[in-house]
Amino acid sequence: MDVTRFRHDLQQKGVTLVAVSKTQPLDRIRQLYDGGQRIFAENRVQDMVARRENLPADIIWHHIGHLQKNKVKYIAPFVDMIHAVDDAELLFEIEKQAAKNNRIIKCLLQFHIASEETKFGMDLNEAAIMLKNLDRAALPHVEICGVMGMATFTDDQTLIRKEFVTLKSIFETLKKQFFAGDHGFKEISMGMSGDWEMAVEEGSTMVRIGSLLFQ
Ligand SMILES: *Cc1c(COP(=O)(O)O)cnc(C)c1O
Repeated sequence: MDVTRFRHDLQQKGVTLVAVSKTQPLDRIRQLYDGGQRIFAENRVQDMVARRENLPADIIWHHIGHLQKNKVKYIAPFVDMIHAVDDAELLFEIEKQAAKNNRIIKCLLQFHIASEETKFGMDLNEAAIMLKNLDRAALPHVEICGVMGMATFTDDQTLIRKEFVTLKSIFETLKKQFFAGDHGFKEISMGMSGDWEMAVEEGSTMVRIGSLLFQ
């Protein structure tokens, strides 16, 4: 896999490549870094903290997957974006820890678009209620930048496409209702190794890709 080429091809389409480095050895991560990749994502706080200490300082770290409130403090000094915010309490914890570090942390709202059971991610209705009740002026250190979702793990291409279409439409609805004129609200984080092409066709602005890059 020529990651540099891949990243540039995505860039041409306005899509950011987030390299999911979880479970990968440091030397492989460094290889991608040497090829120009700067955005890496981890799903475990301890791993992100440890890896950051052993890798170049200009890496931009994203947190993906469920994040426990009591762990925000460990990544708040450096994390660029948190992809899976699914309740207001987590937003307020991120605000508190970002403020302590005098930083702004970018966040994405996670939606449950897959047909699989999982306790993570909101639906449109829940997000609308949360955003209606949210005093955004009380969150000066949090920037809500868009939405994130994971499609069902299946071979059913029609189902996957439908889920990406759903996420895109959730994004458009929220943009109109709550973020009109907010240029920072622009990201649709969808697409992984197995489904990134379809995600891009359906409007992804950010793909989170692991295994495919490290093959
Ligand atoms: C692991 C993971 C990915 C990357 O998965 P691949 O199939 O290896 O590309 C993307 N998003 C999330 C939330 C993940 O946990």
